[in-house]
Amino acid sequence: MIIIMRSDSTEKDIEGVVERLDERGYGHHISRGEQRTIIGAIGAPEGEKDVIAGQFLVLPGVERVVPILKSYKLISREHHPRPQPVMIGRAQVGGGRMAVIAGPCSVESREQMVQTARAVKEAGAVALRGGAYKPRTSPYSFQGLGAEGLEHLVAARDETGLPIVTEVMDVRQLEGVADVADCIQIGARNMQNYDLLKEAGRLRKPIMLKRGFASTIEEWLKAAEYIAASGTLDIILCERGIRTFETGTRFTLDLSAIAVARRETFLPLVADPSHAVGIASLVPPMALAAVAAGADGLLIEVHPRPDQALSDGPQSLTPAAFAELMRDVRKVAEAVGSQV
Ligand code: PEP
Ligand code: MN
Repeated sequence: MIIIMRSDSTEKDIEGVVERLDERGYGHHISRGEQRTIIGAIGAPEGEKDVIAGQFLVLPGVERVVPILKSYKLISREHHPRPQPVMIGRAQVGGGRMAVIAGPCSVESREQMVQTARAVKEAGAVALRGGAYKPRTSPYSFQGLGAEGLEHLVAARDETGLPIVTEVMDVRQLEGVADVADCIQIGARNMQNYDLLKEAGRLRKPIMLKRGFASTIEEWLKAAEYIAASGTLDIILCERGIRTFETGTRFTLDLSAIAVARRETFLPLVADPSHAVGIASLVPPMALAAVAAGADGLLIEVHPRPDQALSDGPQSLTPAAFAELMRDVRKVAEAVGSQV
């Protein structure tokens, strides 16, 4: 922890900080610059850092308190220096493999799921997505088929062998979802639902954690740390667009987040251009950009009839458009040294 003193802080202020550090049994190191003095606190225990930072911040003459160690450690590169793959069933995500997860936004019927699963598998997807429980902005929009939707997902897996990625919104749905899902999706709106993160982490099933659209990369990584601290390191991070001032797209796909998260964590990183741009014709270019930026996988919404979709039809690719995208994904992946 580093304590930065204000430029007008007095010798007495500095002594005050040092006294407090002494009282707590921490060592210190004072560095006096021309403009200001910086005090390094030595030996502050990891778990208490946040509290201590807040307590020192209110002392006279203190401008800022900067923790040096990150508050995510289990998911950090310091824990595992090299990127680690996560398995969704038999599908590998990360570790040099580009995994494409595709399917409709919502599970709507058995037929829709089986048909989509066949089509995306044929085109090269390695896992099937589809929400049975849907977080909708309006309470009057289609809310998902719930338990019945989970059955249709299982039917599609039985038909095609594709493992399932599906969303859980609430702790009460967790058991039912975990029973069928090969990977549990925690959506953008629930990224900071810490009870859900903790309960999901206890199940030791792979989890795909989407970034909240108003969350910083650091908050996203700390949310992943919650899951890790509860018992599972099989976490896939998914950048799905953040809210900016731009209205040309639904959200803004933050590709820097892939690069920043790559530097910070060994967890696999997936990009979801569908929710980011919200317009089907803009999905392919951003999908390819994400592959070029080093994503380990893509999450793509595909619907056999986007014009009849009960949710996110405007951003859903037809099976034909998805197959065409996959051909380009292979080329870009190869160019950046990854394999589909
Ligand atoms: C989804 O994947 O269908 C979804 C609701 O995504 P997000 O949580 O990113 O909005
Ligand atoms: Mn959707």
